[in-house]
Amino acid sequence: MLIVMHHHATQEQIDQVIAAVVAMGLLAESIPGSLRTAIGVLGNQGYVDDSTIRTLPGVRETIHVSKPYKMASRDFHPVASVIDVSGVKFGDGQRPVIIAGPCSIENEEQMMVAAEQVKAGGGQMLRGGAFKPRTGPHSFQGLGVDGLKYLQQAGKASNLPVVTEVMRIEQLDAVCQHADMLQIGARNMQNFDLLKEVGRLKHPVLLKRGMSATIEEFLAAAEYILAEGNGNVVLCERGIRTFEKATRNTLDLSVVPLVREMSHLPIIVDPSHATGKRALVPIMTKAALVAGAHGVMMEVHPNPAKALCDGAQSLSGESFAELMKELTLLYDFLGYKD
Ligand code: PEP
Ligand code: MN
Repeated sequence: MLIVMHHHATQEQIDQVIAAVVAMGLLAESIPGSLRTAIGVLGNQGYVDDSTIRTLPGVRETIHVSKPYKMASRDFHPVASVIDVSGVKFGDGQRPVIIAGPCSIENEEQMMVAAEQVKAGGGQMLRGGAFKPRTGPHSFQGLGVDGLKYLQQAGKASNLPVVTEVMRIEQLDAVCQHADMLQIGARNMQNFDLLKEVGRLKHPVLLKRGMSATIEEFLAAAEYILAEGNGNVVLCERGIRTFEKATRNTLDLSVVPLVREMSHLPIIVDPSHATGKRALVPIMTKAALVAGAHGVMMEVHPNPAKALCDGAQSLSGESFAELMKELTLLYDFLGYKD
């Protein structure tokens, strides 16, 4: 970290900052310049908490050199990670993974039909929410453990690994028993206790980007899981909040190549929650794959008009099959082998 002093900072203020750095068990090196003095902080293992230093008299700004996401970074781990979810692989050199299924598990039959459609279309994983983070308390909240059973059963019947959201630590046991992959939703991306607990498990994790999270915060959230020992993390861009209201969120596609540069973790895209509009899902799926996404997660429902959640952004089984057919042409173009 570099501490930049105001040009009018006194020697006494500079000495006070140096003393504060030393009190933190770190080394401080004064770098006098023609306009102002900077103080280099040395000896830190990772990110330095600058909250005290920033408020000291004479300090203009602090510049971080170390990142808050060491283990998630390419510096620490230059080789791209491949994450295996019950035989389905996410990462460089793998065919993109298509995860599909309804927003919410509604009943046994809906889940079985959805699974058949995902399988028939050529999807590699099945999704479905049993614990739903709804904006209002009067909306369908999910079937809970019964839903997990339907999901697991549908996954087994169609031979597709399943992913489902976990919202609270107390749900972890049940979700781990029924699912191949744990999803941390956008609203929980910074639920640090949940991240730490998931980090102590071996289950692969699909970590969605918070709706107002910067890329740095996104990777720092992944770091919480890695730091506890669980390296099986796949990131998911699902759109961010902007001033634009024409789409549900704004799909930040540039995050895909950027994260691939900054981190070794695979990254996929969710064009359903990113756009909120069924008509935009196929084209944004293709755009995501062209941008280098290691997969796409999209909502598919046997009858979107009757869906209890997110019907407007759900594809029917038929449109999913059509899109998947179109993707084979794109895979040829992108050079993916079978
Ligand atoms: C979901 O994928 O079911 C979901 C709720 O998405 P997000 O957390 O991205 O809003
Ligand atoms: Mn949804």
